[in-house]
Amino acid sequence: MSKRILITGAAGFLGSHLCDRYINEGFDVLGMDNLITGRLENIQHLFSLENFTFYNHDVTKYIHIPGHLDYILHFASPASPIDYLKIPIQTLKVSSLGTHNVLGLAKAKNARILIASTSEIYGDPLVHPQTEDYWGNVNPIGPRGVYDEAKRFQEALTMAYNRFHKLETRIVRIFNTYGPRMRLNDGRVLPAFIGQALRGEDLTIFGDGSQTRSFCYVDDLVEGIYRLLLSSYDLPINIGNPDEITIKQFAEEIIKLTNTNQKIIYEPLPIDDPMQRKPDITKAIEILGWKPKVSREEGLKITYEYFKSLSKDELFNKEHNNFEKYIIK
Ligand code: UDP
Repeated sequence: MSKRILITGAAGFLGSHLCDRYINEGFDVLGMDNLITGRLENIQHLFSLENFTFYNHDVTKYIHIPGHLDYILHFASPASPIDYLKIPIQTLKVSSLGTHNVLGLAKAKNARILIASTSEIYGDPLVHPQTEDYWGNVNPIGPRGVYDEAKRFQEALTMAYNRFHKLETRIVRIFNTYGPRMRLNDGRVLPAFIGQALRGEDLTIFGDGSQTRSFCYVDDLVEGIYRLLLSSYDLPINIGNPDEITIKQFAEEIIKLTNTNQKIIYEPLPIDDPMQRKPDITKAIEILGWKPKVSREEGLKITYEYFKSLSKDELFNKEHNNFEKYIIK
């Protein structure tokens, strides 16, 4: 009998790639999403498959799944600074109340559960590169606090279920990841820059561009998650690409990639924008035998092809999501 896996956030960027991977591995995949930031376009190719089922459901509400479950991947959450500003309460709820519901479901079904955490739990890190034993430097009440603190709470709740209920849990700390199906206007730097280049606009660097990030191609991330779920390691583990770059260099790479003559313009740095970020992946290498394989040059080419394939409507539509009707009263 096929293994059954529930993937929350299935219509999102990472969730949809995970659905593809588990379908290809022969699993029965149950995808769940409330489509606030997810897009059905990301998974429409799966709807005709017998081993894919979609639930349009908000994980912060009680979750009912008939039948058994072997695994749960909890990937539902807004995940960009613009999203946190637009829907801060949902951002807090999905990783707190939503995580509580999926942990309860895992316990009821005796399923192993993997929770998507984030490098944001390190905040503006004072340790570089970031190791899993670093506790972070987070501003709880800043605009990013709704995401960072919810994800920190999520880790605490997950470890409590692990220790108290003996639930089989896994925690992945995801660093900046990119690839096809990122939302064009989610505010993240890669879709922002590529979108600007395609529309013939200037590229906006926030701050002086000396802040760093380390970008991981989505297929590498999915492989790391796949291995982590099958492993017996239950403490948090960093998955990301340690190839660090300044945002200024990144903008120059995008200009070269898109073969445009766009100018770079500078705008103020958002509050609490981390100055540096790079994963220490020693644990992933040792425990999972994993490290990223796709270079930025290769990954960016594939991603650029995806953005080029979008329609003009999508490219010029600034509101690329359904936020408004979901804003909490
Ligand atoms: N950034 C930028 N221009 C943009 C969007 C983002 O310079 O149009 C910067 C942002 O300030 C941050 C970096 O790029 O320093 C990565 O931002 P992103 O939102 O992609 O991810 P995060 O800050 O969560 O790593």
